[in-house]
Amino acid sequence: MKGKKRTIFIAILLIFFTLFSRIFVIAESNHDCIGDDCPICEMVAVLENSIKDIYLAKTAIAVFGALVFAIVKALFLCDKNHSRFTLTKLKVKLSN
Ligand SMILES: [Zn+2]
Repeated sequence: MKGKKRTIFIAILLIFFTLFSRIFVIAESNHDCIGDDCPICEMVAVLENSIKDIYLAKTAIAVFGALVFAIVKALFLCDKNHSRFTLTKLKVKLSN
């Protein structure tokens, strides 16, 4: 239960970070830039890289989850087919 709350907390934190990062990038897209050492441009670059990393991690987790789901589903279907063909259901006579 404690791990589940932590996972939900981290997910909410990532959602808020992504949301506020995008808002900051949009709000500062037309700022008065001072040139090469502009701190706002540096922050926008850092936030854009963070958003890309988070998006990549979310995609990797989704692909991994889909693979695990497909494997579990395939194993469940194999197990279901094996239990479908039992000796009793096939009416095999064991008369040794
Ligand atoms: Zn700038």
